[in-house]
This record gives sequence, structure tokens and C-alpha cells, in this order.
Amino acid sequence: MNRDILMQALQACRQEQAPNRLKEQQNEKAAVKVCPQIGKLMSARRQAIMDNLRLALNGIAPDKLEEATNKRNKEIKRLLKENGFPENHLEPIYTCCDCRDTGFTGEHKKEFCSCVLKRYQNMVCEAIAMPTTGETFENFDERVFSPNVMEGLGISQREYAQVLRHRCEQYADALPCGKTRNLLFYGRSGLGKTFLLRAIAKRAKDRGVASLSVSANTLLNQIRKAYFSHEDEGMSLFYRTDLLLVDDLGTEPMWENITIEQLFALIDARLNDNKNTVISTNLTLTELQSRYTERIASRLMDPRTGLSLHFLGDDIRKRPQ
Ligand SMILES: [Zn+2]
Repeated sequence: MNRDILMQALQACRQEQAPNRLKEQQNEKAAVKVCPQIGKLMSARRQAIMDNLRLALNGIAPDKLEEATNKRNKEIKRLLKENGFPENHLEPIYTCCDCRDTGFTGEHKKEFCSCVLKRYQNMVCEAIAMPTTGETFENFDERVFSPNVMEGLGISQREYAQVLRHRCEQYADALPCGKTRNLLFYGRSGLGKTFLLRAIAKRAKDRGVASLSVSANTLLNQIRKAYFSHEDEGMSLFYRTDLLLVDDLGTEPMWENITIEQLFALIDARLNDNKNTVISTNLTLTELQSRYTERIASRLMDPRTGLSLHFLGDDIRKRPQ
């Protein structure tokens, strides 16, 4: 684990404490304003605890503290209810109830709370994820594509782009449980692959599906790093995330055995775990097969678990305006 990022995650967890204390104070103020008796009971409760603490320090056992506190608590709850507040109005507020925003759990052996580890994962994802630039299905503009009928297809590139957009949206809306696990975009550059890949990532995010979008270059760099350091932890994000999106497969430098073996292991494990993966490539299917082996290509293109979308037409960046 990256220690610096872990410390940042711990700090972020603890930063929840101050606003929660403030909220507690506001709640108390609001209740006391309506019912001053609540304030008196709370002060008496605090005073009794302090007095008993002082006695305990001098070796004198607390006298009926628990009984008196319970009595006061009961009365406070009754008054809250009587004045229209919920019973738990004055209880401590925690963003994470497991660690009470301390970042640690466990009585004797302190361990990082799952909320810290989750933050850590998100921070690592953010550090390696591709930047997004606002691509969504809603702002996908098929008018950038040619309205001319494509030869031999009887459909214009503009209409075809709408079909692709629709398929991708269906995929994104079925996450994380859809029948289609893998989505493969192939075709030349400038046909909208990256746009739709990012639109899927955005929809996934809006639907609360954990996702990670990376360039193939970043993914393969991480694979090599993990391989040489014999550290699997750097790869676990790619295995664990519900939706992995890899842009531009085929542009990264190849390290023959490592790339192929590790990439296959990742794709295969994700498929076995019923996780979703979207890959875009400028390669043709034949090129994909010869570069990454038949094994990887057939995993990606298996029609039982995946859908291959062929992006066709003219590069929009070369289209006369
Ligand atoms: Zn926690």
C-alpha cells in the first residue's frame, strides 16, 4: 500500500469529526432553545460525570453514577419527544459508525476501518484514472457524423452512430448485472469510441457502480510494475472494480510474455467474477488476435458474455465542416 495515500485517506476520515461536532452543537442549541430544561439536564449530566471522574482519580468508586445518568437520559428523551424532536436528536453524529470517524476499529489490535480503505481505493483510482471531459449520452451529438449512406451498408454513419450510442447506453443502464459483461469497441480512430467509453463511465458513476477508466498504457504499466515488484496489491483495483474501462488497447508497448499473460489473467478473472469490462482499440479483430493471441481475443469476443461493436465510417476530425 502507498503509505502517503493511506495517511491522506485516514486524515480525510478524521476530517469528518469537526463538522459532525458542529452539527451536534447546533442540535443541542435548537433543543435547549425550545426546552431550557433539556439544557439543565445535560449540564447536570456532564457535571456528574466530571465529579465522578475526579473521585475516581482519588481512588473513590463512583456512586450511583450510572443510575443517575440513565434517569437523566430518560427524562431528556421524554422532553425531546414532547417538544417534537426525534429521540436521537442529541446523540453523537458519526459519518462512519464502525470507527466513529477515528479511522480505526478493533479494541486491542487496531486496524484500519473499511471506510479508510475505501477512501484509499478511491484515491488510488483517481490518481491513475483518465481525466473526464464531460462526455455523456445526453450530449453525444450524432450530427458530427456524415449523413451520407455508407457503401454496402445502406445506412448513414450518422444513423449508425445512433445505433452504437443506443447499445452503449443499454449496456450502461444494465450495470452491474447485465448479461453482457464485456464490451469491445474496435475500429479506426476518430469514430467516437473514447466518447462512448467515457459516457458509459459517467452513467455508471451516476448509477453508483464502482468503475475505473484507464488508458491501456496506464493499465499495462501497472501490470509490469506489479510483476516486477511481485506485489499484487497494485493490480487489485483492476480486479476488484465492478466496471473497468480500458481505452486505446494496442497503443501500449508490448512486453511479450508479461503483457499477454497478465492481461489474460485479468480479463479471465473479471469474467469469472461476473465483472464488467469495456475495451476500446483501433486495431482490427485480426490485428487484435495476432497481437494479443487467440486466447485473449476469444475471451473478449465471446458472444455469450460480450458484445463487439465495430465503429465504422470516416474520421470526424477529417470531415469538412
Ligand atoms: Zn470507519
